[in-house]
Amino acid sequence: MADVIPFDQRDGSLWHDGKLVPWKEAKTHVLTHGLHYGSCVFEGQRIYGGKIYKLKEHTDRLFRSAETLGMKIPFTKDEINQACVEAAAVQNIKDGYLRPVAFRGSEMMAVSAQNTTIHVAVACWPWPSYFSPAEKLKGIRLEISRYRRPAPDTAPVHAKAAGLYMICTISKHEAEAKGYADAMMFDYRGYVAEATGANVFFVQDGVLHTPIPDCFLNGITRQSVIAIAKARGVKVVERHIEPGEMAGFSECFLTGSAAEVTPVSEIGNYRFKPGALTETLMNAYADEVRGAATVSA
Ligand code: PMP
Repeated sequence: MADVIPFDQRDGSLWHDGKLVPWKEAKTHVLTHGLHYGSCVFEGQRIYGGKIYKLKEHTDRLFRSAETLGMKIPFTKDEINQACVEAAAVQNIKDGYLRPVAFRGSEMMAVSAQNTTIHVAVACWPWPSYFSPAEKLKGIRLEISRYRRPAPDTAPVHAKAAGLYMICTISKHEAEAKGYADAMMFDYRGYVAEATGANVFFVQDGVLHTPIPDCFLNGITRQSVIAIAKARGVKVVERHIEPGEMAGFSECFLTGSAAEVTPVSEIGNYRFKPGALTETLMNAYADEVRGAATVSA
């Protein structure tokens, strides 16, 4: 994408290991454990009208993810929350995206890396919609990934850990090469799981059905949308969903901090028609994040 400014060449400042530093100088060495061995966890949250949506929840998850990987973040949660506020303020961003990241440094270069320093950075940048608005309204097309979400005894599936995204990037690249916007991943048992960076919901006779997040992230947006739906009297069923059941669902949408509520028109050979409930929840979520209505605390 020629029009995107490379992420290491942007102007301004970001928060790095305790202080704001010039953006272009926030560098790390090539011999960094996080890069070689995937000892890296991160977050992704949006700021709307100058307020970071569910900042506390994202910071809590960052700390949980780090703990799962045996990494002790050398800052308090309050300091990371403040870092997020500062990273947005220094770039003067009222509507954008924040990326906190924590990773092991370069003191050791082997599988064992007990004595590495844990580095933390937070950057903020403008990021409109994950998918283009035109694409969003008609629903995006997903292919079915050849990779499956791993079992909880195969990988730390509830951590937002960099290593778990390897199969997501491969899947998304393969989907994009065929003209799809994203890929749907099934889990190790063959149940419908999630997209490469977002959770999935289906509609059947006015009821929402969504997979149980027992081997992938229980997304913060997923939880918000469930709360919003329930507050509107919409029944939400969390259950295991067989791929073949997709033939009986009328609507489908994805949820994620970046994806927000994104209608889906196609998953492999299954077709959906973005409809009234998807649109209602899309708008209700847009109101909620802007503070127009706060259903999910
Ligand atoms: N699953 C994956 C793999 C993701 O990357 C994301 C985005 N963080 C989600 C689900 C949705 O999570 P959230 O709503 O907390 O952003």
